[in-house]
Amino acid sequence: MIIGVLVELSNKNIDKVFDYSVPSNLEGYIKIGIRVEVPFGNQKLEGFVLEIKKETGASNLKEIIGIVDSEVVLNEELLMLGRKMQEMTLSTLISCYQVMLPKALKAKHGVSISKKYDTFYSLNTNVEIDNINSKQEEIINLCRTEGSILKKRLSDISLSSLNTLIRRGILVEEKREHYRLNYNEGLLEKKQLTSDQRKVVDSVSFAHNVYLLHGVTGSGKTEVYMELIDKALARGKTSIVLVPEISLTPQMVERFQRRFGNNIAAIHSALSDGEKYDEWRRIVRQEAKIVIGARSAIFAPLNNIGMIIIDEEHSDSYKQDDSNPRYSAKDIAIIRGKYYDCPVVMGSATPSLEAFARAKKNVYKLLSLSNRINGRELPKVDIIDMNLGIKQSKGHFSLTLVEAIADKLSKKEQVILLLNRRGYSSVISCKSCGYTFKCPNCDITLTYHKTSNTLRCHYCGYGTKVYDTCPECREKSISDIGVGTEKIEEELHKLFPESKILRMDVDTTSRKGMHEKMITAFKKHEYDILLGTQIVAKGLDFEDVTLVGVINADTSLNIPDFRSSENTFSLLSQVAGRSGRSKKSGQVIIQTFNPEHYAIEYTKRHDYIGFYNKEMSIRRELKYPPYYFICYIKISGKDKDILGGEANKIKRALDRNITNSIILGPSPCTIFKLNNIYRYGIIIKYKSDGNIREVLNKIIEHYKGNQKIKIDIDFNPSHF
Ligand code: ADP
Ligand code: ZN
Repeated sequence: MIIGVLVELSNKNIDKVFDYSVPSNLEGYIKIGIRVEVPFGNQKLEGFVLEIKKETGASNLKEIIGIVDSEVVLNEELLMLGRKMQEMTLSTLISCYQVMLPKALKAKHGVSISKKYDTFYSLNTNVEIDNINSKQEEIINLCRTEGSILKKRLSDISLSSLNTLIRRGILVEEKREHYRLNYNEGLLEKKQLTSDQRKVVDSVSFAHNVYLLHGVTGSGKTEVYMELIDKALARGKTSIVLVPEISLTPQMVERFQRRFGNNIAAIHSALSDGEKYDEWRRIVRQEAKIVIGARSAIFAPLNNIGMIIIDEEHSDSYKQDDSNPRYSAKDIAIIRGKYYDCPVVMGSATPSLEAFARAKKNVYKLLSLSNRINGRELPKVDIIDMNLGIKQSKGHFSLTLVEAIADKLSKKEQVILLLNRRGYSSVISCKSCGYTFKCPNCDITLTYHKTSNTLRCHYCGYGTKVYDTCPECREKSISDIGVGTEKIEEELHKLFPESKILRMDVDTTSRKGMHEKMITAFKKHEYDILLGTQIVAKGLDFEDVTLVGVINADTSLNIPDFRSSENTFSLLSQVAGRSGRSKKSGQVIIQTFNPEHYAIEYTKRHDYIGFYNKEMSIRRELKYPPYYFICYIKISGKDKDILGGEANKIKRALDRNITNSIILGPSPCTIFKLNNIYRYGIIIKYKSDGNIREVLNKIIEHYKGNQKIKIDIDFNPSHF
């Protein structure tokens, strides 16, 4: 037997199938889609079996060393999916296959994660039972009535009696695999759908179509998803539900679990590798029919998929943009949807412009829920102009916001405060000369970490102590500017010394289980105010929250990216949607230095369509998506001069070979130097694919093995 193996080389430039022979004692185990261990040069490597054949053109055929998987890890459909992904992203086939498997299954991990077993005992019907004492009799009777019993229950009666019965062969042992996670039986809780919800559910037909569900926050989208999944289950089919990692809260999982019990498998970053491995195997064995998870859950090894749901469709977390393959889970969902002839339903209160434009052209079918459940009003939004300055505010809080918080606290209602800021600490500068501390490896301002009293680079990890003397002007006038959650928390404590404040950010939620604990505690009203970054904006459903305050709406507006208005509108709308979801009506206060900006004005009016029309006119003018596709080429290397030369060469090659497109650059990336590597970007704007992939493939081929220049290609980047 000869097999073609796609070898997993650490140097990802080589992406080739090599032929190996299989010793006859292993032939029985070989299947397409399993992994094997092979010799390569003087290394031992893993690879995927892609072909089984009788002949080879290769000479000096080597034998494989062993088998890695007993079960197929990539079935025929997933193998096809990998090839399509490679064509779309222009990354290597091996990287496409690797990204589909949970980390726990990957080389080095797979072996270290063990299956866990429980031991059960049952009666051996072939052995005569005589001469037993009362404890032994008790054990035997229990086995007689219940069949096989967990060891612990029997040893609790008497360990020595149990051992005697085992030794005499009266009880036989059985090992059953034990999963690390336990789901309770679901209560199969169902809500009576409203007529609007029913209409949406009934419009989804069980054939491949892409639907865009535009539903305001609190309109009952999640109930609609669950009903659709139920319909798929009734047809004997499986489902995938994608949610952004950040909103994959225990609250969300619990809701699905209450409805579907242990029919769900939830995959998220809070699980240990072992737990992820178990969930993956429950899916392979079809013990879980509903998979709910973040981006990579789109690769769940389900068969017979009947429904794919993508919640918060606008979220940039569905695009992998930090490593190859730079794929979008939405594209993958559509490929799988076609394969299984099943619907893909994408939902959002603020759909991406791309998706809504497609829905308007009838490429996607548009479904809407324009009202909140039970006719509840969307919260009233007030905009506070922070340019009015110090007289109108206390620290970072406007007097209006302070009064509103005090009012809610006195009524025993709850408040959510959003600090619109990635990162969580401050920028430090010199008050007299304006000097800021920069990372020596990256073009990045260092951020101040109060707890350790250090300045750190969030990109490369560089850290240094803080001095109070400015290295530039020698004045003792270093002070911190900018706002972090820690600082806001301090101010809040001073303003409301009686209130209980919960801070939720990357810092406080990094420990396993913390996120869950905090949400539960807030739900139980152990805290009055929840203060946090983007993490508090999504998916949370708390009855008592009647005020949402945004400390600074501007941070995301100021990011130099063509999507900054869209991202701001969507973030503000999402966080506003946390207020007044239950019987009490809600209020939202947004503080900003740009009160007239249209992203903020349309948020105030809850006017998605108005925002869409305005933003589309800008995109048309500037030739951005959805009017044009974008491909971003990043060229990086250590030597600035060589890099610049090559970037220009690439630009000229593109100009010569690609027609009907706009090619911009090369220009230095926003962060030109990162970890001592310089980076240039080239942008291609185009209306139809044409020969773009062909030309780019040639360029990639040309730089293969080049140690000085690295090329990364990102189609439809979520940001530059
Ligand atoms: P969305 O996902 O659109 O934000 P949800 O599905 O979370 O909305 O629904 C908002 C709230 O309304 C939730 O508390 C949910 O339990 C409740 N809800 C949704 N549908 C119904 C219904 N048909 N009857 C009663 N309550 C509902
Ligand atoms: Zn750095």
